[in-house]
Amino acid sequence: MFKRAVPLYEDDSHSCLAFVDLVKGSGIQSNQFMIVNNKRSALIDPGGDLTFGALTIEVAKYSSLDNLDYILASHQDPDIIASLPKWLIKSPAKVITSKLWSRFLPHLVPGYLNDETGISLNKRIIGLSDKGGSIKLGNSEIIAVPAHFLHSVGNFQFFDVKSRILFSGDMGASLIEDNSAAEPVLNFKKHILNMEGFHKRYMTSNKACRLWAGVVKSLNVSMIVPQHGKPFAGEQIYEFLDWISNLECGIDLIDESFYQPQVSVFEQTA
Ligand code: FE
Repeated sequence: MFKRAVPLYEDDSHSCLAFVDLVKGSGIQSNQFMIVNNKRSALIDPGGDLTFGALTIEVAKYSSLDNLDYILASHQDPDIIASLPKWLIKSPAKVITSKLWSRFLPHLVPGYLNDETGISLNKRIIGLSDKGGSIKLGNSEIIAVPAHFLHSVGNFQFFDVKSRILFSGDMGASLIEDNSAAEPVLNFKKHILNMEGFHKRYMTSNKACRLWAGVVKSLNVSMIVPQHGKPFAGEQIYEFLDWISNLECGIDLIDESFYQPQVSVFEQTA
């Protein structure tokens, strides 16, 4: 039995919804997001086949799939956009992602859909230049905020102007074992344990984190909502931005020993 969507923001014409418990089995816990404005809708990081069926059922409670204007993909990973061909068939949505990935995503789509007679793939996958920009949804607007190298080389986050929520993709992601992904972080110091290993390996460098955090501080966001784990609200936003600004990660932590292969990695079994 699926939980209802968690409302992150709601007024008469605009809502932001989180789906936090659609992943079943061994996949990493992932959140999927929907923004609805005056009946027009967008999905953020809808995921792969693992969540597609459940997500279509949940999405249909809030908007007809015919009104789904956009699939916004922060980057190229399986838990972000592997369900691409199904959304292209089931909805008229355009898929918006970094131009660095827009030419790779057609590899997720069967060849028979990929040609001229299929779903006009070239017109359905829109590649953003590095600076991102504004995406109009209904009477509102979503801004694609550059977040390159955090973690993917071509990476965007999506800032919903009406609610001032920043959907931050993998930035701020946490690995949690209970069903509390909808509940904002309360104790930041304790929460570091759920984030530190992930950010140290998946984020490219302190420089990228620090420059990004500086920009986000100027956006006056109401929440930072990552694709895995718990959201940040209130003062926890600034605790997180300060922490990530000072975190050594990725290439900060490597030396030449990192590239030394291990000998006899696999034992061949009879
Ligand atoms: Fe990823």
